[in-house]
Amino acid sequence: MRRISIFGATGSIGQNTLDLIRRDPESYTVVALTGGQNIAQLAADARAFGAEVAITADETRLDELRAALQGSGVEAAAGAQALVEAATRPADWIMSAIVGAAGLAPGLKALEQGTTLALANKESLVCAGRLLMATAEVHGARILPVDSEHSAVFQALVGERITEVERIIITASGGAFRDWPLEDLAGATLAQASSHPNWDMGQRITIDSASMFNKALEVIETREFFGISPEAIEVLVHPQSLVHALVGFRDGALMSHLGAPDMRHAIGYALHWPDRRHLPVARLDLAAIGQLDFRAPEEARYPALRLARAVMARGGMSGAVFNGAKERALDHFIAGRLGFTDMAVITERVLAQLEAEAGLIDDAMTLENVTRIDDLARKAVDLVVKI
Ligand code: NAD
Ligand code: MG
Repeated sequence: MRRISIFGATGSIGQNTLDLIRRDPESYTVVALTGGQNIAQLAADARAFGAEVAITADETRLDELRAALQGSGVEAAAGAQALVEAATRPADWIMSAIVGAAGLAPGLKALEQGTTLALANKESLVCAGRLLMATAEVHGARILPVDSEHSAVFQALVGERITEVERIIITASGGAFRDWPLEDLAGATLAQASSHPNWDMGQRITIDSASMFNKALEVIETREFFGISPEAIEVLVHPQSLVHALVGFRDGALMSHLGAPDMRHAIGYALHWPDRRHLPVARLDLAAIGQLDFRAPEEARYPALRLARAVMARGGMSGAVFNGAKERALDHFIAGRLGFTDMAVITERVLAQLEAEAGLIDDAMTLENVTRIDDLARKAVDLVVKI
């Protein structure tokens, strides 16, 4: 029996992970499940899977969670500290699927225990990639990528040497607005940005796909995870979302990974790694699909990609500023206080502002410093939005 925990169990990635566990209950013991506001889902899953503990990130909802778990034998806990403590419970495999920088502290704690971390939470790599990778190394822990593009690259690299890689190409659907006239983007509404052409995901990553902030995070994630130079990372728009990534080797060969746009591919690969097991995902019928399309991403449509390049060039903890500012700008867009295209404008402004503050982003990369910078970036966005 493998002991597993799922951080962000109530979300899109968390539910897909539980779907795979549910099909093979004899193989797993569920240790901790965590969620946020959806107490009913968290409690129902904790009961159904016989979890040891269920944790909500919201301290004010502990009583509600306790009541929902009454008589089940599942412990209840709440708050950011409880989340970090849950990561110390012995487990063989932990899914990191909290959305946003909030996933960093529990992920680090899991790695400190030497636990294998299946990483969907790309924001933690963007904020503190070096810290995560070094923590894994010191404690002999493994990080397995769950983002579909990074899982695809990881799979294309099996049996290969990273030193022979010339380039890594990650694909992007182009999001909800890939064919919109540029002048209409500023007026894009929340509902329009919240519907993805191919993937069924959480709301935040769906909006980030429309703006390509998601791909911008993924470019940085590629750099941090695979350790290759920024110039070797390319983004390719591929509207069908069937080719997830390509790895180009020094002999010119390109190895690619194709699969249905279903996150259970990448989650299942990380769950069963290094084995491959049957997964309940659609098989591609390429003759029926007929054609695959590719195009270069337009700079004017997706300014976030340019910002990602600037962040990688700047280095230090610039990624934490970028992610914190982007997350807060997204909060304001969701709340109706910012327009769609303002998100990139404000993120760029906050990046310039905090990078100019002497020494700030060149401090040692510790959890405390990353958290402080994340907070400063969010406050700087609030100042611009004037709330
Ligand atoms: P989601 O919004 O559906 O779920 C997020 C989960 O995190 C929920 O369980 C929620 O309760 C929890 N959460 C939210 N805020 C929290 C906080 N402050 N503290 C603790 N927990 C909190 O998100 P998702 O789409 O499942 O994405 C999860 C992560 O996986 C993100 O980092 C995302 O970028 C990444 N990812 C998602 C997909 C996808 O298909 N959904 C694909 C690739 C990568
Ligand atoms: Mg992805």
